[in-house]
Amino acid sequence: MYMADYRIERQELNTAFRVAKRADIRGREICGMLVRQGNRLLLIPVKNASKSLGSFSIATSHMLIALSAHGLALGQVEGTYHSHPWSPAEPGETDITGADNGSLMLILSCCYKDVRLWRIQDGEAKPVRFIRSRI
Ligand SMILES: [Zn+2]
Repeated sequence: MYMADYRIERQELNTAFRVAKRADIRGREICGMLVRQGNRLLLIPVKNASKSLGSFSIATSHMLIALSAHGLALGQVEGTYHSHPWSPAEPGETDITGADNGSLMLILSCCYKDVRLWRIQDGEAKPVRFIRSRI
């Protein structure tokens, strides 16, 4: 049986890459939430609360503010996204340990010009297919 892929709008990915590239110059990651609407994943930016370079942290208060600004509910959150300034679009050890079990994780790597979607399950990251759609 064909399992529907997730789909992410190309324009949203392009926007996220643009913001990520600006943050990269300062060695900073960008981050946000992946919100599910049907099989579509929306990228909702959230302020990176991490003070360290090359890491990200999403504060609950920032997350709730971003969701309500878009009229979205916590129950629609399927996972997170963030950028990697210097490394490939693969989750690092702290990415995996910091993720909710069963959640999705989208990683944008600027230096590798790559974006990949993962499911974090039982301490492992499994690749998840997605379609870049025009609308
Ligand atoms: Zn990471």
